[in-house]
Amino acid sequence: MELKLKLTDYRTDVHNNWCPGCGDFGILSSIQQALFEMQLNPSKVAIISGIGCSAKTPHYINGYGIHTLHGRAIPYATGLKLANPELEVIVTVGDGDGLGIGAGHFVHAGRRNVDFTVVLYNNEVYGLTKGQAAPTLNIGVKTKSLPKPNINQAINPILLAFAAGYTFIARGYAYEVKHLKELIKQAISHKGSAFVEVIQPCPTYNDIHTKEYWSGKGNIDPKTGKEVPRYYKLEETGYECIITDETTEEEYLNKISNFIKKAYESGNRVPIGVFYRDLRFATYEERLSSRMPTYKISPPAKQEIADKKGNSITNIDKILEEFAI
Ligand code: SF4
Ligand code: MG
Repeated sequence: MELKLKLTDYRTDVHNNWCPGCGDFGILSSIQQALFEMQLNPSKVAIISGIGCSAKTPHYINGYGIHTLHGRAIPYATGLKLANPELEVIVTVGDGDGLGIGAGHFVHAGRRNVDFTVVLYNNEVYGLTKGQAAPTLNIGVKTKSLPKPNINQAINPILLAFAAGYTFIARGYAYEVKHLKELIKQAISHKGSAFVEVIQPCPTYNDIHTKEYWSGKGNIDPKTGKEVPRYYKLEETGYECIITDETTEEEYLNKISNFIKKAYESGNRVPIGVFYRDLRFATYEERLSSRMPTYKISPPAKQEIADKKGNSITNIDKILEEFAI
């Protein structure tokens, strides 16, 4: 296939002020490469963020981009996708942004099955505001930015996404760019709410889970006596969890039990890859279409809102009538 768009077409000339060595660079590169390999036209792509280091991502990707409020990227992106279903919408949120103040929105996006992709930058700290403990930091861990060890239990993003109803769930690692790019491509191609957690070292505030830590520093394989990474790729183990209408109840229970075991794995053996795909449910946009037959051909973004003179021609009387009791 001839690639008409170049990788550089997905970059901007905005000055990047992430700290040197930040895992965010790997995530940015993975998203750009995924868009390039899918040849998605920048005019059809929207990157939506909240507040945090992750929230700078839309500035660096050529396409539509909106840097919204803390915790509010998901509702903004939901409205955008519903107004213009032709857009490929990618939400970039941090662990604090997405699972702290934005946790409620994170849950409801899953149960709606909106056809978009949520990428969670998980560095376990609030990087932009000097490294406070984020909801994904384990209890008892003391990063250099904390005066005392973290007092709270951590959220497991993979299990939360499953409980919320996300129909595609994956985890990548920021420095495994090719692997992460493939996960993002699969997430974008999936019809429904797709979630990709990314382990993202923050060299400035998280001195525990560093790039060296994940690369395997001090993690000796007893069989070989050599250092091995603290993560492994699910697909290399033959693991797969796909749920379809044909999946029997027994198969479902087996697959879910396997999925939960994988989602709980931590410490020196953290899985990355696709954890879960559920192909049984209609997207939110499809559910809306079944109630409003004209929705797909005339979504809000395609409707005229003003005449040539700029006067409003919208009339919401009909919509209001629907709500009248
Ligand atoms: Fe990256 Fe941490 Fe610096 Fe933020 S504070 S840009 S997450 S290294
Ligand atoms: Mg964070």
